[in-house]
Amino acid sequence: MGKPMKYLVIHCTATPEGREVSSAEIRRWHTSPPPAGRGWKQVGYTDLFHLDGRVERLVKNNEDAQVDPWEVTNGASGYNSVSRHIVYVGGCDKAMKPKDTRTAAQRESLKRYVQDFHSRFPQIRIVGHQELNIGKACPSFDVQKWLREIGIRQ
Ligand SMILES: [Zn+2]
Repeated sequence: MGKPMKYLVIHCTATPEGREVSSAEIRRWHTSPPPAGRGWKQVGYTDLFHLDGRVERLVKNNEDAQVDPWEVTNGASGYNSVSRHIVYVGGCDKAMKPKDTRTAAQRESLKRYVQDFHSRFPQIRIVGHQELNIGKACPSFDVQKWLREIGIRQ
């Protein structure tokens, strides 16, 4: 059995504004052996938010408050056994500097997702990757400020 989930962690793919990223591409980055990829056994995120707002599930999840061994993804070192990781496509400008590039559709679907998640699991803290692994820019926006804007108090 898994551990109780403590965090929903929001990430970006760290790709330039306007460029779509497929799930196959993310799988390749994470699970191909080095140097092509990172050689992880599992992809880094559970759900992927495409530019058009579509949410694609990358790793099976039974939607309870436990992180089962088969649900673990590799999004933030030191926290994976107690986290669910989600990611939006984007997060960099054309010069690859961190930028909140979320499209209106991505903002809307991310908002619906976290509101639904928070209503089911109010005890699980929603954070940006940079709040767990200090020094990271990911996800290129202030998650706590955005949560207040969409009415989530945690
Ligand atoms: Zn991240």
